[in-house]
Amino acid sequence: MSEAPGPSRPGALLGPAEIRDLAGRLDVTPTKKLGQNFVHDANTVRRIVAAGGVHADAIVLEVGPGLGSLTLGLTETGADVLAVEIDRRLATQLPDTVRMLQPEARLRVVHQDALTLRAGDLPAGARPTHLVANLPYNVSVPVLLHLLPTFPTIGRALVMVQAEVGYRLAADPGSKVYGSPSVKAAWYGSWRIAGQVSRQVFWPVPNVDSVLVGFERHEEPGDETLRAQVFALVDAAFQQRRKMLRQSLSALLGGSAGASDALTASDIEPTLRGEQLTVDDFTRLGRTVLAAA
Ligand code: SAM
Repeated sequence: MSEAPGPSRPGALLGPAEIRDLAGRLDVTPTKKLGQNFVHDANTVRRIVAAGGVHADAIVLEVGPGLGSLTLGLTETGADVLAVEIDRRLATQLPDTVRMLQPEARLRVVHQDALTLRAGDLPAGARPTHLVANLPYNVSVPVLLHLLPTFPTIGRALVMVQAEVGYRLAADPGSKVYGSPSVKAAWYGSWRIAGQVSRQVFWPVPNVDSVLVGFERHEEPGDETLRAQVFALVDAAFQQRRKMLRQSLSALLGGSAGASDALTASDIEPTLRGEQLTVDDFTRLGRTVLAAA
């Protein structure tokens, strides 16, 4: 496509008419499989950019730029944006759309699946400082758990996700929605709900609610060996979340007596359930298990 999606206006964002027009010209029918719900509301875009703390010196990794709604909000701050899009038609069109509306924008597009993205797939030397995305909802947790360890220079993130997933990411132990994604996400940093988003800002309108979730990285509690051990314990504990830990971890720790010993040695009551443990508790347990191996 060579025609501009409207007059060239530096700093302009995409509205409902531009979104429909672009999708029509690209012959894109949004698919559920790729979580394609496009934002057409400038206020929402600017709210996400502000909540993400994006500034002119930021290097932003955006997953799933789609037609460019959020991308244009990011580039208008002057930030350097690295956009990773799996849909070839969208990835091919994006540089043209952004150049036409914001000729000065600093944008590089990578046509790839974010789930397999590696540092070497980004332009040479590009080290993202921020992750800001309206994530494809069906893969949002795996994408986050892949990108946070792959790009340790990302210190801050702001993502829009399905509400249920957002509350899970930000949940504290003891809460009903606290689960394996909550503990794994907490390995990398702290998470908070940063606001709710109306279904009406999307095209097509999704049949789920959305929230914004903010992330700030902290130092990881241990190395890759410990992380793998801790995540295996977390998976086992939450596979049978109603069971006491001495039962849910018995297969992994050599029977229920072995599990009780490891738990006790880590200052954890064997009768607790996984949903009552913090990431620090799981980490202590992981150290105990590795030390005994
Ligand atoms: N950022 C745009 C917006 O706010 O309007 C689009 C967001 S839409 C919810 C999700 C986008 O992620 C789509 O453009 C979709 O093609 C893309 N996508 C889906 N799965 C992906 C993956 N595994 N890797 C990269 N992009 C993906």
